[in-house]
Amino acid sequence: MKVPYSVKRNVLLNPGPSTTTDTVKFAQIVPDICPREAEFGGLMKGLREDLVKIVHGDLEKYTSVLFCGSGTINIDVCLNSLLPEGGKVLVVNNGAYSTRAVEICSYYGLPHIDLQFPVDQRPDLEVVEQTLKDNPDIALVHTTHNETGTGILNPIREIGELAHRYNAVFTVDTTSTYAMRPIDIEKDNIDFCMASAQKGLMAFTGLSFIVGNRSIIEQSAGYPKRSYYCNLYMQYDFFERTGEMHFTPPVQTIYSTIQALKEYWAEGEQAKWARHTRVFNAIHEGLDELGFKDVIKREEQAGLVVSAIYPDDPNWSFEKVHDYCYERGFTIYPGKISTTNTFRLCALGAIDEQDIRDFFEVFREALEHCSVKIPVQYN
Ligand SMILES: *Cc1c(COP(=O)(O)O)cnc(C)c1O
Repeated sequence: MKVPYSVKRNVLLNPGPSTTTDTVKFAQIVPDICPREAEFGGLMKGLREDLVKIVHGDLEKYTSVLFCGSGTINIDVCLNSLLPEGGKVLVVNNGAYSTRAVEICSYYGLPHIDLQFPVDQRPDLEVVEQTLKDNPDIALVHTTHNETGTGILNPIREIGELAHRYNAVFTVDTTSTYAMRPIDIEKDNIDFCMASAQKGLMAFTGLSFIVGNRSIIEQSAGYPKRSYYCNLYMQYDFFERTGEMHFTPPVQTIYSTIQALKEYWAEGEQAKWARHTRVFNAIHEGLDELGFKDVIKREEQAGLVVSAIYPDDPNWSFEKVHDYCYERGFTIYPGKISTTNTFRLCALGAIDEQDIRDFFEVFREALEHCSVKIPVQYN
């Protein structure tokens, strides 16, 4: 695909939306089209299949369902749609995104257990199992693959195995790993995973999707309907019957996502993961050189988000450092831990290790500009 001109390139180190290629940017520029035309429906069919193939799902057994909204819509849809009458949700919670799932349960009045673990530790599987044993009414287990607030990687395969052993459906928020860290939906014991186009796929905001087990969706047709707009079976059924989204789709984002998928297959799962890993390692090298400490043990990080602790230096100001970098085309992001002041550098998007080296030149200048002592100090 040819692009008419090159767009100013920003390196986004926030946890999504991510840096995109110009070809993905310009894929949004298409002749006006009514999304109810068969031509558009055909595009969505291929897109839905690709989304299943990314997690190596068998197309008979698994399907994907698209929604217009940001990633949180997927968590909302899964929880409110997949809980049968009389069932309970277990949220295995060690961070901000699983806490969001707990809040969704509260808003819908869903019976749930908020099984909390420290944000810098992996969940204790024995406690998870005991909870399942003690509560045979748990029908749905939910957790987050990579807690984007800290960057910790959760043992989803093991949690999924436990969920299945105790006859519960397993939904995983894979928004910050999907299309980056390889996932195998079957082997990882996932019934439903989810993401949105602006993260691992490196496209734009507005399109979110759930990939999951077709027969469980069909079974959920008889479950209580708790939302009109956000019901999984309703949207699935509409797609199956008409090939269309029930309500207006994010047309331009869908065009750009289709281009992003072409680029995904061209790069390849392993090569893409290797590139994210290079970026992640370069982030660690840069932070190590400046003396920054991170929150999560290195071996427990998902390889996509680094959460660094604010130094104890009176001259440190996240806002000032952020603004200095932002003006020079690099976006850094605050943390999401209530107990520790942190900032995050993320390895998603169409960037490579050279971008990180360029970033650290600017970041070091920013620290010098603010008179922060290097290496940075901790008390
Ligand atoms: C980004 C993200 C979401 C979605 O957040 P939105 O602000 O709704 O896009 C959900 N879960 C995780 C783990 C995420 O990283």
